[in-house]
Amino acid sequence: MNISIKQIIETSLIDWEGKIVSTLYLPSCNFRCPYCYNCDLILHPDNFKNIPQKEIDSYLLERKDFIDGICMSGGEPTLYPDLPEYFKEIKDKGFLIKLDTNGTNPKLLKNLLDFSLVDYIALDIKSSLDFDNYSKAAGIRDKILLEKVKDSIGLIMNSKVDYEFRTTVVPLLHSEEIIMEIARYISGAKKYVLQNFSSLEKTLNPSYQKIKPYSDEKIQELSEKAKKFVPICSWR
Ligand code: SF4
Repeated sequence: MNISIKQIIETSLIDWEGKIVSTLYLPSCNFRCPYCYNCDLILHPDNFKNIPQKEIDSYLLERKDFIDGICMSGGEPTLYPDLPEYFKEIKDKGFLIKLDTNGTNPKLLKNLLDFSLVDYIALDIKSSLDFDNYSKAAGIRDKILLEKVKDSIGLIMNSKVDYEFRTTVVPLLHSEEIIMEIARYISGAKKYVLQNFSSLEKTLNPSYQKIKPYSDEKIQELSEKAKKFVPICSWR
């Protein structure tokens, strides 16, 4: 199976609200978000050793009574066609699965949903769903991928899976108007989360480290306004 985990956070209380998980990281991504914190994993995946699957399996089984499941993150996990098979093996061991995704592979997402191979999806919505704004936030210009993101949003909203949409809010990329456009687009969604950008971390575009994030008060204000469209809207 062509799945090579590069990093693992052994115990995380913050990656899936209300659950204790181990978070696994897959390398590479088809986006180049300028504010990406995982830039080394995206740009230089070969600098990271593969963690042997046997090691991950024995780690998970040893902690079976302590953790609820895994969070698969990255990078972009849906770049890997073997992800459904990998998830099946994890589920067969009795673990819940959360997937973090940029939404560019609706075909694989549908497969996961059709075969109940995922319990929670967090889909990043990078900006309002128009080509120029999305391209700026995703760091690439690709109309087909944008259409795929829209397909994934529709697919998830029409499914029975538990999910959240989320946006990392960066002053240079996201005006109040853009956040409200996103919220309007996903009107009626189960949950929308605004994540404040942090300039404390290394970013894919180094100039983003000089950007001053919005204040917590501003992010809170945006989340209150977005509740007009998505009543469960939080911020962190
Ligand atoms: S933040 Fe953007 S570039 Fe980084 S992993 Fe997520 S989708 Fe890929």
